[in-house]
Amino acid sequence: MTTAPPNVTFVGAGPGAAEHLTLGALRVLQTADVVIHDRLVGPEVLDLIPRHVMRVDVGTAGFGPSTSQATINATLVAHALTGARVVRLKGGDCGIFGRLDEEIAALEAAGLPFRILPGLTTAAAAAAAIGQSLTGRGRNVALRIVTGHDMQGYAEQDWRGLARKQEVAAIYMGKKSARFLQGRLIMHGADPATPVSIVENASRADQRIIGTTLSHLPAAIAPCDGPAIILFGLAPRQAAVSLQRVQA
Ligand code: SAH
Repeated sequence: MTTAPPNVTFVGAGPGAAEHLTLGALRVLQTADVVIHDRLVGPEVLDLIPRHVMRVDVGTAGFGPSTSQATINATLVAHALTGARVVRLKGGDCGIFGRLDEEIAALEAAGLPFRILPGLTTAAAAAAAIGQSLTGRGRNVALRIVTGHDMQGYAEQDWRGLARKQEVAAIYMGKKSARFLQGRLIMHGADPATPVSIVENASRADQRIIGTTLSHLPAAIAPCDGPAIILFGLAPRQAAVSLQRVQA
């Protein structure tokens, strides 16, 4: 068995569409022995893994049932120790809310080398879907990448900063925390009429775009049962797509 380093490659799969997979990612998938993947990796991407490659689903979902991080780490290390070429495939970019550090620490503890192939993060695909840019001259000089919850529960943020006019934030894992986010932002002075776009299943065949405002955010996101990202401070452009608007 060969043990030529590195035998573990962390790969960002992008948000779902096969066309968002990098060429590097495709190459390592085609030469892998084992692919360990999350639930967020889209079916179009999974279809590109050759049939003979062993697949291990370690699906993790925000609040839902999921494989524990300790089990994922142990699975990764166990496969890598056999000398197999292991791809650890994560949705979007593996370095954004992807628990990458925990897995790297496990590999380091076992003395196993690794490399990282970045992927397209959901915020980029979602902004493209609504026909907007994430930064805008004269609008926002910074883009905040925010999570709705962390290990302690709903995540605290620099609400005062976020609530300022023309701020833009890409909010990941914001479904369960939508009412909390709304409350904190309004409490810190955000305009309830601030535009908000929700993109569910970004880049996938069942992509759905919901244009709304901060005041309607919880009601607007409630019907989403796929992964959804909130683009705070951005409205969908009319011309970009056919839109579903929620003002309920
Ligand atoms: N590493 C990923 C993010 C993982 S955190 C990335 O870079 O995109 C999981 C959150 O990402 C989900 O709760 C959701 O908010 C968002 N997400 C992932 N894939 C998505 C998709 N295809 N459409 C919309 N949101 C998505």
